[in-house]
Amino acid sequence: MRITDIRVHILQKPLKSTMRISRGGFTVRRHAIVEVSTDAGITGLGEGIGSPESIRALVRDRMAARVTGLDPFNIEQVRATLIDNDVYFERMGASICAASAIEMACWDIKGKALDVPVYQLLGGRCRNTLEAYASDVYWEEDAGKMAENARRIVGRGYRTVKIHIGARPPREEIPRLRAVRQAVGEKIELMVDLNAGYHALDAMQAIELWREFDIRWLEEPVSPNETAAMQRLRSKSPMPIAAGENEFRLHGFKTLLDASAADVIMPDIGRAGGLMETRNICALAGAHGVPVSPHNFSSGVLLAATVHLMASVPNTTLLEMDTSGNAIYEELLTWKPAFADGSLDVPECTGLGVALPEAIVRQYGVN
Ligand SMILES: [Mg+2]
Repeated sequence: MRITDIRVHILQKPLKSTMRISRGGFTVRRHAIVEVSTDAGITGLGEGIGSPESIRALVRDRMAARVTGLDPFNIEQVRATLIDNDVYFERMGASICAASAIEMACWDIKGKALDVPVYQLLGGRCRNTLEAYASDVYWEEDAGKMAENARRIVGRGYRTVKIHIGARPPREEIPRLRAVRQAVGEKIELMVDLNAGYHALDAMQAIELWREFDIRWLEEPVSPNETAAMQRLRSKSPMPIAAGENEFRLHGFKTLLDASAADVIMPDIGRAGGLMETRNICALAGAHGVPVSPHNFSSGVLLAATVHLMASVPNTTLLEMDTSGNAIYEELLTWKPAFADGSLDVPECTGLGVALPEAIVRQYGVN
């Protein structure tokens, strides 16, 4: 089998409400969906996380020609061609995101051609259900609105909820934390995502002031560039520190893990380097005794890839889900997500179990 063509579809969906985090708000979601075609008539889909326009330009102007003619079964060769075979290496950034998407699509093709789910190719199933958490309680001026949103999510059966705060200094966020904790009760696990919104000093204050709220993990308290600050914070923090959604490749995670800077790491398959790279990152994290909760906040294509990875890698935990209705999820899946008792069933499907119907491209596609 040979790769004959690669196209990038940019999908855009206006949101029902502004999603506000520490670093500002956004009103649309945009996805770069990469479609790899072959001479066998099988196509595969992957998703790159980052600037969709940059990913599209890189694939169109640079990567498509380099992998056209390669066998999509030879995923290590495709990876090497896209990531490691240049004279000057792209070590992170949009190139790695674009390569991640193409690599993901090759797994989809291989699974379809062999008529097996991708998790079979990654080592086989190690679990039948994936415990999930909802990550879509966004910052609101009105703490009551956040509490209401958290209550809605718990009402749907989620036992773990993540809230986004940090738009104000730590002391001013206490009413929001209190309102949400009171709304969900003591038995629900609560995570806090700061989206790298604090400086180290504010983060130090936050871990002291927020102790009473029984926080499962504090995510990206400071800039992903400040590994040393994260390390200091972690050494003092009563709550676990999570980080990694803005990190690239095995080497990036090695730095994080060698520094003992996080209790949980969060590689994004569409950003870190693809499925094989993320599997390798999981193995490295395993050697450090650090669990992996992959970052999964985009379309159904990334969701599917994350499900296949987590189904086959034992040291992964907690599947991230967007319950807001803003994500383009089911429209891109060939299986219906079955969610019960806080967990998602691992699906029966071939490949990743994804599709890009013409109607969806018409509805959400942008040129
Ligand atoms: Mg996050």
